[in-house]
Amino acid sequence: MQQQQFGKFTASELYCPKCKTSQPVRERLLLVLPSGELHEFVCTRCATSLGKRTVTGPALASAEQPSHPGAQRRLLR
Ligand SMILES: [Zn+2]
Repeated sequence: MQQQQFGKFTASELYCPKCKTSQPVRERLLLVLPSGELHEFVCTRCATSLGKRTVTGPALASAEQPSHPGAQRRLLR
């Protein structure tokens, strides 16, 4: 039985130029910006940075405030 530790694990493997093959990656928080968070994907084998991802406001807001699912919808007209 495998238990999933991270529900929002998006990129599990990326090509690593150092290892010359696709490697499992680890996501870590790089920067906290006013508009969101900058995450970095690093190779679990050689720790090379393989990519970046920006987690923007709405995702964070909905994660922190799950009490009003209807009110958190995008402002669509
Ligand atoms: Zn690597």
